[in-house]
Amino acid sequence: MTDQTNLAPDALGPTLCIGEILAEIVATTTGEGFLDPVPMVGPYPSGAPAIFIDQAGRIGGSAAMVGSVGNDDFGRVNIARLERDGVDVSGIRTDSVLPTGTAFVRYRPDGARDFVFNMWTSAAGALGWTEDVQAVCARAGHLHVMGTLLGHQSIWEITERAATMIKARGGTISLDPNMRKELRGDGETGRRFAQMVGMADLLLPSGDELYLAADLTTDAREEDALERLFHFGVKEVAIKRGAQGSTCALPNGARTHAPAFAVTEIDPTGAGDCFGGAYVACRRLGMPPEQALTYANAAGARNVTFRGPMEGAGTRTELDQFISETKRLT
Ligand code: ATP
Ligand code: MG
Repeated sequence: MTDQTNLAPDALGPTLCIGEILAEIVATTTGEGFLDPVPMVGPYPSGAPAIFIDQAGRIGGSAAMVGSVGNDDFGRVNIARLERDGVDVSGIRTDSVLPTGTAFVRYRPDGARDFVFNMWTSAAGALGWTEDVQAVCARAGHLHVMGTLLGHQSIWEITERAATMIKARGGTISLDPNMRKELRGDGETGRRFAQMVGMADLLLPSGDELYLAADLTTDAREEDALERLFHFGVKEVAIKRGAQGSTCALPNGARTHAPAFAVTEIDPTGAGDCFGGAYVACRRLGMPPEQALTYANAAGARNVTFRGPMEGAGTRTELDQFISETKRLT
Protein backbone atom coordinates (compact mmCIF):
# COMPACT_ATOMS: atom_id res chain seq x y z
CA MET A 1 0.00 0.00 0.00
CA THR A 2 1.41 3.38 -0.92
CA ASP A 3 0.61 6.46 1.10
CA GLN A 4 -1.39 7.76 -1.86
CA THR A 5 -4.14 5.19 -1.57
CA ASN A 6 -5.51 5.69 1.93
CA LEU A 7 -8.38 7.96 0.86
CA ALA A 8 -10.64 7.54 -2.14
CA PRO A 9 -9.46 9.78 -5.01
CA ASP A 10 -11.20 13.10 -5.56
CA ALA A 11 -12.56 11.79 -8.86
CA LEU A 12 -14.74 9.20 -7.09
CA GLY A 13 -17.02 12.00 -5.91
CA PRO A 14 -17.24 14.83 -3.41
CA THR A 15 -16.18 14.80 0.20
CA LEU A 16 -19.44 15.01 2.13
CA CYS A 17 -19.96 16.68 5.48
CA ILE A 18 -23.21 16.55 7.44
CA GLY A 19 -24.30 18.88 10.22
CA GLU A 20 -25.09 22.34 11.46
CA ILE A 21 -24.98 25.47 9.37
CA LEU A 22 -25.07 28.62 11.49
CA ALA A 23 -24.83 32.37 11.27
CA GLU A 24 -22.25 33.63 13.74
CA ILE A 25 -22.28 37.04 15.39
CA VAL A 26 -19.05 37.99 17.12
CA ALA A 27 -18.59 40.59 19.87
CA THR A 28 -15.87 43.04 18.87
CA THR A 29 -14.73 43.60 22.45
CA THR A 30 -13.41 40.96 24.84
CA GLY A 31 -15.15 40.41 28.14
CA GLU A 32 -17.52 38.17 30.01
CA GLY A 33 -20.71 37.09 28.30
CA PHE A 34 -23.63 39.13 27.07
CA LEU A 35 -25.25 40.61 30.18
CA ASP A 36 -24.70 44.16 28.95
CA PRO A 37 -24.99 45.59 25.45
CA VAL A 38 -21.81 45.01 23.46
CA PRO A 39 -20.87 45.88 19.88
CA MET A 40 -21.06 42.89 17.59
CA VAL A 41 -20.32 42.09 13.99
CA GLY A 42 -21.86 39.52 11.72
CA PRO A 43 -23.52 37.50 10.31
CA TYR A 44 -20.60 35.27 9.36
CA PRO A 45 -21.21 31.87 7.76
CA SER A 46 -20.43 29.24 10.39
CA GLY A 47 -20.98 25.80 11.89
CA ALA A 48 -18.03 23.40 12.24
CA PRO A 49 -19.13 21.07 9.41
CA ALA A 50 -19.71 24.07 7.14
CA ILE A 51 -16.26 25.49 7.94
CA PHE A 52 -14.67 22.12 7.16
CA ILE A 53 -16.43 21.71 3.84
CA ASP A 54 -15.90 25.33 2.80
CA GLN A 55 -12.15 24.95 3.22
CA ALA A 56 -12.19 21.61 1.38
CA GLY A 57 -13.98 23.19 -1.57
CA ARG A 58 -12.00 26.41 -1.48
CA ILE A 59 -8.66 24.61 -1.79
CA GLY A 60 -9.95 22.79 -4.87
CA GLY A 61 -11.34 19.52 -3.55
CA SER A 62 -14.66 18.17 -4.69
CA ALA A 63 -17.03 18.94 -1.79
CA ALA A 64 -20.69 18.66 -0.78
CA MET A 65 -22.72 19.60 2.28
CA VAL A 66 -25.82 18.15 3.92
CA GLY A 67 -27.55 20.54 6.30
CA SER A 68 -30.58 22.73 6.86
CA VAL A 69 -31.11 26.49 6.94
CA GLY A 70 -34.10 28.77 7.33
CA ASN A 71 -35.74 30.77 4.55
CA ASP A 72 -33.90 33.92 5.67
CA ASP A 73 -30.80 35.98 4.97
CA PHE A 74 -28.74 34.03 7.52
CA GLY A 75 -29.40 30.92 5.46
CA ARG A 76 -28.77 32.69 2.16
CA VAL A 77 -25.44 34.08 3.38
CA ASN A 78 -24.30 30.53 4.14
CA ILE A 79 -25.46 28.98 0.88
CA ALA A 80 -23.92 31.79 -1.15
CA ARG A 81 -20.57 31.34 0.59
CA LEU A 82 -20.49 27.59 0.10
CA GLU A 83 -21.49 27.93 -3.54
CA ARG A 84 -18.83 30.58 -4.12
CA ASP A 85 -16.24 28.18 -2.76
CA GLY A 86 -17.29 25.34 -5.02
CA VAL A 87 -19.35 23.29 -2.57
CA ASP A 88 -22.28 21.26 -3.90
CA VAL A 89 -25.23 22.60 -1.86
CA SER A 90 -27.93 20.33 -3.30
CA GLY A 91 -28.11 18.45 0.01
CA ILE A 92 -28.92 21.61 1.99
CA ARG A 93 -32.63 21.98 2.66
CA THR A 94 -34.43 25.22 3.39
CA ASP A 95 -36.93 24.98 6.24
CA SER A 96 -40.07 27.01 5.62
CA VAL A 97 -40.78 27.65 9.31
CA LEU A 98 -37.66 27.56 11.46
CA PRO A 99 -34.97 30.25 11.23
CA THR A 100 -31.31 29.55 10.47
CA GLY A 101 -29.31 28.55 13.53
CA THR A 102 -27.21 31.20 15.26
CA ALA A 103 -24.15 31.41 17.47
CA PHE A 104 -23.29 34.59 19.38
CA VAL A 105 -19.72 34.47 20.61
CA ARG A 106 -17.66 36.70 22.84
CA TYR A 107 -14.03 36.12 23.71
CA ARG A 108 -12.77 36.59 27.24
CA PRO A 109 -9.37 38.21 27.74
CA ASP A 110 -7.86 34.77 28.51
CA GLY A 111 -9.04 33.37 25.15
CA ALA A 112 -11.98 31.39 26.58
CA ARG A 113 -15.30 31.92 24.83
CA ASP A 114 -18.86 32.58 25.95
CA PHE A 115 -21.59 31.42 23.56
CA VAL A 116 -25.30 31.85 23.08
CA PHE A 117 -26.42 29.15 20.64
CA ASN A 118 -29.68 28.51 18.91
CA MET A 119 -28.77 25.28 17.21
CA TRP A 120 -31.04 22.26 17.50
CA THR A 121 -34.15 24.38 18.06
CA SER A 122 -33.45 26.11 14.73
CA ALA A 123 -33.55 24.88 11.11
CA ALA A 124 -30.16 23.25 11.79
CA GLY A 125 -31.90 20.60 13.87
CA ALA A 126 -34.54 19.84 11.24
CA LEU A 127 -32.47 17.38 9.24
CA GLY A 128 -33.63 14.09 7.85
CA TRP A 129 -33.03 11.65 5.02
CA THR A 130 -34.49 13.17 1.84
CA GLU A 131 -34.23 12.39 -1.86
CA ASP A 132 -31.62 15.13 -2.18
CA VAL A 133 -29.56 13.59 0.62
CA GLN A 134 -29.89 10.18 -1.01
CA ALA A 135 -28.72 11.61 -4.34
CA VAL A 136 -25.65 13.35 -2.96
CA CYS A 137 -24.65 10.30 -0.87
CA ALA A 138 -24.98 8.12 -3.99
CA ARG A 139 -22.27 10.12 -5.74
CA ALA A 140 -20.03 11.02 -2.76
CA GLY A 141 -16.50 9.62 -2.56
CA HIS A 142 -15.71 10.37 1.06
CA LEU A 143 -17.53 11.19 4.29
CA HIS A 144 -16.09 13.43 7.00
CA VAL A 145 -17.67 12.82 10.41
CA MET A 146 -17.73 15.34 13.25
CA GLY A 147 -17.45 13.71 16.67
CA THR A 148 -19.44 16.57 18.20
CA LEU A 149 -22.54 15.37 16.36
CA LEU A 150 -22.53 11.74 17.44
CA GLY A 151 -24.95 12.47 20.27
CA HIS A 152 -27.58 13.90 17.93
CA GLN A 153 -30.08 11.21 17.00
CA SER A 154 -31.30 12.34 13.57
CA ILE A 155 -27.82 13.40 12.40
CA TRP A 156 -26.48 10.06 13.58
CA GLU A 157 -29.09 8.22 11.51
CA ILE A 158 -28.09 10.15 8.37
CA THR A 159 -24.39 9.73 9.15
CA GLU A 160 -24.61 5.99 9.63
CA ARG A 161 -26.61 5.52 6.45
CA ALA A 162 -24.30 7.81 4.44
CA ALA A 163 -21.21 6.05 5.80
CA THR A 164 -22.50 2.64 4.75
CA MET A 165 -23.48 3.86 1.28
CA ILE A 166 -20.23 5.69 0.65
CA LYS A 167 -18.07 2.80 1.89
CA ALA A 168 -20.04 0.38 -0.32
CA ARG A 169 -19.10 2.35 -3.43
CA GLY A 170 -15.41 2.38 -2.58
CA GLY A 171 -15.42 5.67 -0.69
CA THR A 172 -13.58 6.42 2.54
CA ILE A 173 -14.29 8.02 5.91
CA SER A 174 -12.50 10.53 8.12
CA LEU A 175 -13.34 11.34 11.73
CA ASP A 176 -12.51 14.43 13.74
CA PRO A 177 -13.21 13.21 17.30
CA ASN A 178 -13.65 16.71 18.79
CA MET A 179 -14.83 14.80 21.79
CA ARG A 180 -14.57 15.25 25.49
CA LYS A 181 -13.58 12.20 27.44
CA GLU A 182 -16.82 12.18 29.44
CA LEU A 183 -18.66 11.37 26.22
CA ARG A 184 -16.63 8.21 25.59
CA GLY A 185 -18.22 6.62 28.64
CA ASP A 186 -21.71 7.89 27.78
CA GLY A 187 -23.42 4.67 26.59
CA GLU A 188 -24.93 5.42 23.21
CA THR A 189 -22.61 8.25 22.14
CA GLY A 190 -19.57 6.22 23.23
CA ARG A 191 -20.79 3.25 21.23
CA ARG A 192 -21.31 5.40 18.12
CA PHE A 193 -17.86 6.89 18.57
CA ALA A 194 -16.29 3.42 18.74
CA GLN A 195 -18.26 2.39 15.65
CA MET A 196 -17.00 5.41 13.70
CA VAL A 197 -13.40 4.88 14.81
CA GLY A 198 -13.81 1.32 13.51
CA MET A 199 -15.08 2.58 10.13
CA ALA A 200 -12.63 5.48 9.77
CA ASP A 201 -9.78 5.40 7.27
CA LEU A 202 -8.39 8.69 8.55
CA LEU A 203 -8.51 10.12 12.06
CA LEU A 204 -7.85 13.81 12.82
CA PRO A 205 -7.39 14.05 16.60
CA SER A 206 -6.03 16.89 18.72
CA GLY A 207 -4.98 16.81 22.36
CA ASP A 208 -6.31 13.83 24.29
CA GLU A 209 -8.56 12.70 21.45
CA LEU A 210 -5.88 10.33 20.13
CA TYR A 211 -6.07 8.35 23.39
CA LEU A 212 -9.83 8.63 23.56
CA ALA A 213 -10.12 7.12 20.07
CA ALA A 214 -7.69 4.35 20.97
CA ASP A 215 -9.63 3.76 24.19
CA LEU A 216 -6.49 4.25 26.29
CA THR A 217 -5.83 6.54 29.22
CA THR A 218 -3.91 9.73 28.48
CA ASP A 219 -0.77 8.48 30.23
CA ALA A 220 -0.30 5.92 27.42
CA ARG A 221 2.47 6.46 24.88
CA GLU A 222 1.50 8.14 21.64
CA GLU A 223 3.02 5.27 19.67
CA ASP A 224 0.94 2.73 21.58
CA ALA A 225 -2.23 4.68 20.84
CA LEU A 226 -1.33 4.82 17.14
CA GLU A 227 -0.56 1.10 17.08
CA ARG A 228 -3.96 0.33 18.55
CA LEU A 229 -5.75 2.55 16.07
CA PHE A 230 -4.00 0.86 13.15
CA HIS A 231 -5.01 -2.45 14.66
CA PHE A 232 -8.64 -1.22 14.63
CA GLY A 233 -8.23 -0.65 10.88
CA VAL A 234 -7.49 3.10 10.78
CA LYS A 235 -5.10 3.69 7.85
CA GLU A 236 -3.84 7.17 8.61
CA VAL A 237 -3.77 9.56 11.58
CA ALA A 238 -3.19 13.30 11.22
CA ILE A 239 -2.47 14.67 14.70
CA LYS A 240 -3.19 18.38 15.25
CA ARG A 241 -0.83 19.99 17.75
CA GLY A 242 -1.86 23.67 17.68
CA ALA A 243 1.28 25.84 17.72
CA GLN A 244 3.38 22.65 17.55
CA GLY A 245 2.10 21.92 14.04
CA SER A 246 0.92 18.50 12.98
CA THR A 247 2.06 14.94 12.31
CA CYS A 248 0.92 12.27 9.88
CA ALA A 249 1.31 8.68 11.09
CA LEU A 250 0.93 5.66 8.80
CA PRO A 251 0.72 1.96 9.69
CA ASN A 252 4.05 1.27 7.95
CA GLY A 253 5.81 3.31 10.65
CA ALA A 254 6.20 6.50 8.61
CA ARG A 255 5.88 9.67 10.73
CA THR A 256 5.86 13.01 8.96
CA HIS A 257 5.87 16.24 10.94
CA ALA A 258 5.15 19.71 9.67
CA PRO A 259 5.75 22.81 11.82
CA ALA A 260 3.04 25.39 12.47
CA PHE A 261 3.17 28.89 11.02
CA ALA A 262 3.83 31.93 13.19
CA VAL A 263 0.72 34.11 13.15
CA THR A 264 -1.05 36.60 15.33
CA GLU A 265 -4.33 35.06 16.35
CA ILE A 266 -7.40 37.25 15.87
CA ASP A 267 -10.13 34.60 16.13
CA PRO A 268 -9.20 30.97 16.90
CA THR A 269 -12.57 29.52 15.85
CA GLY A 270 -12.36 27.17 12.88
CA ALA A 271 -8.64 26.30 12.92
CA GLY A 272 -9.19 22.58 13.44
CA ASP A 273 -11.96 22.48 10.83
CA CYS A 274 -9.91 24.36 8.22
CA PHE A 275 -6.99 22.04 8.95
CA GLY A 276 -9.23 19.04 8.37
CA GLY A 277 -10.90 20.36 5.23
CA ALA A 278 -7.57 21.18 3.63
CA TYR A 279 -5.93 17.92 4.71
CA VAL A 280 -8.69 15.65 3.43
CA ALA A 281 -8.96 17.56 0.13
CA CYS A 282 -5.19 17.52 -0.46
CA ARG A 283 -4.84 13.81 0.30
CA ARG A 284 -7.78 12.99 -1.96
CA LEU A 285 -6.15 15.07 -4.69
CA GLY A 286 -3.13 12.77 -4.40
CA MET A 287 -0.69 14.95 -2.46
CA PRO A 288 1.84 13.19 -0.21
CA PRO A 289 1.49 13.64 3.59
CA GLU A 290 4.10 16.39 3.93
CA GLN A 291 2.46 18.63 1.34
CA ALA A 292 -1.02 17.95 2.74
CA LEU A 293 0.17 18.77 6.27
CA THR A 294 1.76 21.99 5.08
CA TYR A 295 -1.43 23.14 3.38
CA ALA A 296 -3.48 22.05 6.39
CA ASN A 297 -1.26 23.91 8.87
CA ALA A 298 -1.41 26.95 6.61
CA ALA A 299 -5.20 26.70 6.35
CA GLY A 300 -5.56 26.49 10.16
CA ALA A 301 -3.10 29.31 10.78
CA ARG A 302 -4.41 31.63 8.08
CA ASN A 303 -7.96 31.20 9.32
CA VAL A 304 -7.14 32.40 12.85
CA THR A 305 -5.80 35.67 11.44
CA PHE A 306 -9.30 36.67 10.28
CA ARG A 307 -12.26 37.62 12.40
CA GLY A 308 -15.13 35.25 11.64
CA PRO A 309 -15.06 31.46 11.73
CA MET A 310 -14.41 30.74 8.03
CA GLU A 311 -13.34 34.14 6.72
CA GLY A 312 -9.71 33.02 6.47
CA ALA A 313 -10.29 29.76 4.61
CA GLY A 314 -7.83 29.90 1.73
CA THR A 315 -7.74 28.98 -1.94
CA ARG A 316 -4.68 27.08 -3.08
CA THR A 317 -3.20 30.32 -4.45
CA GLU A 318 -3.88 32.20 -1.20
CA LEU A 319 -2.35 29.39 0.84
CA ASP A 320 0.71 29.19 -1.46
CA GLN A 321 1.22 32.89 -0.88
CA PHE A 322 0.67 32.51 2.88
CA ILE A 323 3.21 29.65 2.99
CA SER A 324 5.84 31.62 1.10
CA GLU A 325 5.39 34.73 3.28
CA THR A 326 4.96 33.23 6.76
CA LYS A 327 7.65 32.06 9.18
CA ARG A 328 7.43 28.56 10.59
CA LEU A 329 7.50 27.97 14.33
CA THR A 330 10.09 25.37 15.27
P1 ATP B 1 -10.41 23.35 17.37
O1 ATP B 1 -10.27 24.09 18.65
O2 ATP B 1 -10.90 24.21 16.23
O3 ATP B 1 -11.12 22.02 17.50
P2 ATP B 1 -8.15 21.66 17.02
O4 ATP B 1 -7.68 21.42 18.41
O5 ATP B 1 -8.92 20.61 16.34
O6 ATP B 1 -8.93 23.02 16.94
P3 ATP B 1 -5.66 22.95 16.40
O7 ATP B 1 -4.49 22.08 16.63
O8 ATP B 1 -5.97 24.03 17.37
O9 ATP B 1 -6.91 22.03 16.08
O10 ATP B 1 -5.50 23.68 14.99
C1 ATP B 1 -5.31 22.94 13.81
C2 ATP B 1 -4.03 23.40 13.11
O11 ATP B 1 -4.15 24.77 12.76
C3 ATP B 1 -2.78 23.27 13.96
O12 ATP B 1 -2.19 21.98 13.81
C4 ATP B 1 -1.91 24.38 13.42
O13 ATP B 1 -1.20 23.96 12.30
C5 ATP B 1 -2.92 25.44 12.98
N1 ATP B 1 -3.11 26.45 14.04
C6 ATP B 1 -4.14 26.56 14.89
N2 ATP B 1 -3.99 27.61 15.73
C7 ATP B 1 -2.81 28.16 15.40
C8 ATP B 1 -2.05 29.30 15.87
N3 ATP B 1 -2.50 30.07 16.86
N4 ATP B 1 -0.88 29.57 15.28
C9 ATP B 1 -0.42 28.82 14.27
N5 ATP B 1 -1.07 27.75 13.78
C10 ATP B 1 -2.24 27.43 14.31
MG1 MG C 1 -10.58 19.83 17.33
